[in-house]
Amino acid sequence: MTDVPWAAGRDASWYRRPDVRSAKVVHVAGQPIREGILSRCGRSVLDQSLTWIPEQVPERIRCRSNGCRQAWPASRP
Ligand SMILES: [Zn+2]
Repeated sequence: MTDVPWAAGRDASWYRRPDVRSAKVVHVAGQPIREGILSRCGRSVLDQSLTWIPEQVPERIRCRSNGCRQAWPASRP
């Protein structure tokens, strides 16, 4: 684990009923837990096989929940 910020969608395979719609949301990586890496908002375990550079995540798929929201880099105009 490095200090370089990264982001990812949640690991849908970890859930019994993957939600296709919310699976497109990308979260900022936060704390490591037993199951993997938890998102900053604390709502999802992240899919580490498909990671993003936070600056490259389009606004429309960024997680807006408290925790992730503050962690996104400022968007460029
Ligand atoms: Zn999030």
